[in-house]
Amino acid sequence: MKTLRLLALFIAAIVLTAGQSVQPARRPISLVVVGGSVITQDARRSVLAPGAVAIEGTDIIEVGSPEAIAAKYRASDTIEARDQIVLPGLINTHTHAPMVMYRGLADDLALMDWLQKYIFPAEAKTVSPAFVRTGTRLAALEMIESGTTTYADMYYFEEEIAKATREAGLRGVLGQTIIQFPVADAKTPAEGLARAEAFVKAFKDDSLIVPAVAPHAMYTNDRATLVACAELARRYGVPVIIHLAETEDEVRIARDEHRLTPTAYLESIGFWGPKTLAAHGVWVTGEDMAILKRHGIGVAHNPESNMKLASGAAPVTKYLRAGVALGLGTDGAASNNDLDMFEAMRQASFLAKHATRDPTALPARTALDLATIGGARALGMERQIGSLERGKLADLITVSVGAARQTPLYDPVSHLVYVTRGDDVRTTIVNGRVLMKDRQVRTLDRASVIADANRLAQKVREAVAR
Ligand SMILES: [Zn+2]
Repeated sequence: MKTLRLLALFIAAIVLTAGQSVQPARRPISLVVVGGSVITQDARRSVLAPGAVAIEGTDIIEVGSPEAIAAKYRASDTIEARDQIVLPGLINTHTHAPMVMYRGLADDLALMDWLQKYIFPAEAKTVSPAFVRTGTRLAALEMIESGTTTYADMYYFEEEIAKATREAGLRGVLGQTIIQFPVADAKTPAEGLARAEAFVKAFKDDSLIVPAVAPHAMYTNDRATLVACAELARRYGVPVIIHLAETEDEVRIARDEHRLTPTAYLESIGFWGPKTLAAHGVWVTGEDMAILKRHGIGVAHNPESNMKLASGAAPVTKYLRAGVALGLGTDGAASNNDLDMFEAMRQASFLAKHATRDPTALPARTALDLATIGGARALGMERQIGSLERGKLADLITVSVGAARQTPLYDPVSHLVYVTRGDDVRTTIVNGRVLMKDRQVRTLDRASVIADANRLAQKVREAVAR
């Protein structure tokens, strides 16, 4: 009997050991994010509920059920967000980061008055490398806290913006501004172009920064400058960012001076080329839209800025129908007045419905697309970011859904667009690095960023009062 029992134990031990050796060793990876639902934004718009994202280094290596991911991988760090929604980091396709320093400085004006009487003079008196550094840190803090992981920018001293962006850990498509009149970082457009070239050379191989050339607009640059900007960008294979057809005034200027729309004028001088992003595109004709489509131009829609400055309503549904790569932006905080992309999604949807008197014009699903994969397409980065898929860069966020305003929850996509706020973001991850966990920002010292901004605001207040 005893021998039999021993034999049985021996056999059981063999079976157990064999069973273990059949199971493959779990691959060690850096991070797993487990969520109540994972909104992938892949081509099939798959939603996993629950789901998990496996990350190794800077890349997503797999998205699957929590059980499947746990069986295959052993992560050195895990973010448990089973009571939250996991989604791709939001992509802000148009802003001017340091302009957070002008938040609330001049409201309730039309664009041309606002720019020429308030913003351009304030910039002439206050913009410096230190101003840009402090402003960008504040903007980066706000973006991390509200779930933006990539942003497109155009401003002055863009190298300072790039450095602050890299330190904060955000991804940026950053354009050095070129404008015809003397500005803080360039007395002439030629100087601005030289700056842009030095900037592109310094950052073209950076893992987080895509340097770009940013002529301000067709009405603030002459033909030679516009052409030189496009040529510079093409020489280095970097993007061009420009404001386009933002107001009816711009269309009038273009018609008076060139007998063409802004879009057609820029085509007539050979400006449009690859990797070009046009911000606003509010006042475009059907022919303009065909031009933009033909040249593969990305368009950044900025519903809040357009409403606040009463610039108009961009024909969003027509853009989408025409197949133009459309992204969403906040514009600078001086005309919004924040960088919250959740609000941008909501307002994009409401504005399109209101302007067309069609409640189906821009559904929640489409608004979310614009802020994620659509923005990635507009920036020409859809192979790298914009969705949670194997092989893409690990840019993702988690969002809490426990607030009274988010209860009950029937449809996560509806909630993300119609009731969620930037403040609901819990975790922000860029390039596989956790920038914020449980609302604690790790890459910036929150208290000192805000104190520095308040100190600088005192100088802005004094400068504009003079
Ligand atoms: Zn702008």
